[in-house]
Amino acid sequence: MKTIDDFDFKDKKALIRVDFNVPLNEDHEVTDATRIEAAKPTIVKILEDGGSAVLMSHLGRPKAQEAEFSLKHIISKVSEIIGVQVKFVENCVGPEAEAAANSLEAGEILLLENLRYHKEETAGDRAFAEKLSKLGDIYVNDAFGTAHRAHASTTIVAGFFPDKKCFGYLLAKEIESLDKVLNNNEKPVLAILGGAKVSSKITVIENVLDKVDDLIIGGGMAYTFIKAQGGKVGSSICEDDKQELALDILKKADEKGVNIHLPVDVVAADSFSEFANTKVEDIYEIPDGWQGLDAGPKSLENFKDVVLGSKTILWNGPLGVFEMKPFANGTIQLGNFIDEATQNGAFSLVGGGDSVAAVKQFGFDDKVSYVSTGGGAMLEMLEGKTLPGIAAIED
Ligand code: AMP
Repeated sequence: MKTIDDFDFKDKKALIRVDFNVPLNEDHEVTDATRIEAAKPTIVKILEDGGSAVLMSHLGRPKAQEAEFSLKHIISKVSEIIGVQVKFVENCVGPEAEAAANSLEAGEILLLENLRYHKEETAGDRAFAEKLSKLGDIYVNDAFGTAHRAHASTTIVAGFFPDKKCFGYLLAKEIESLDKVLNNNEKPVLAILGGAKVSSKITVIENVLDKVDDLIIGGGMAYTFIKAQGGKVGSSICEDDKQELALDILKKADEKGVNIHLPVDVVAADSFSEFANTKVEDIYEIPDGWQGLDAGPKSLENFKDVVLGSKTILWNGPLGVFEMKPFANGTIQLGNFIDEATQNGAFSLVGGGDSVAAVKQFGFDDKVSYVSTGGGAMLEMLEGKTLPGIAAIED
């Protein structure tokens, strides 16, 4: 894997695809700078080598060139975090951008305007990518969040840098961490898949069945499995058309020697509300009018044993409706078990979809070994897909 450590950036301009798609408030101030912080080590290494950095990113989903999506709103934040006053150019391609890039001196940073102000970016347009390629000597991809998109700046542009392309530290770490979980792992390996629906995770489940020793299926997904096995799930979330698939997964797991762990009890509620009446029920015997919204105490005890017995842990998706306080306990407890296992030496990775939101909300992001920064990109990697942004560098 070629990373920025394989290049000396002295007197070179690095064209870096970063993910600065950060949330802004009504006054266009950055409310969460995690993604900018995450790109810092890559930028700093290049500047310390004696090079300069041209940063390109998208922000939001502009339809035209709406001012609210301008990356000029983040200039001061990026300058503050990197410790260098960032220059800005109001177009990401064309003569103005080229002049700005050409006049960069060692140690300087140029931020380009939003890539998605041009529809050619998401279209993966080759001519547009060629224009971008004129802005740097070495192409660095450090944007994991968009690595699953074959956009001009994430994938196509790499073709213009045949021997001068590499991963930034952030993207390299994402690839290494997932590899450590799925391939170069210490056994026993456990995957915990939660969240709302089987249908959105089916490819992930099928892919991890070849990689893990244990699989915990929790959250809303579990009810499809329980009903398929003849259980009564009341009005719990359930995909009736996926029951056969659920049975097929259980059979495949059995054939592959993977232990599947489903919840045995739940916190059931009489409505989908924070103010609902609740009671603990056997997951196979949820009364009509009640729905399971969190894992129950016996399930958590079982899950604890499995987590603490594992050496490698992958966690995607909450065990319950963690956004509502009465149903957050299962997800919090699971985080605690993973924390304990990690302290005992296990390698734990959390990521994919919205998992990171839950992990951050409860402060587990410092306690697991690695938190992935890319929701959709991580899910696609868990599905076993080769991401175009990664393939373009490895080619
Ligand atoms: P996902 O994006 O697939 O990881 O799903 C995350 C969502 O699943 C969260 O918003 C949770 O509220 C939801 N969820 C977890 N457990 C349940 C459940 N038992 N019933 C309904 N939704 C759930």
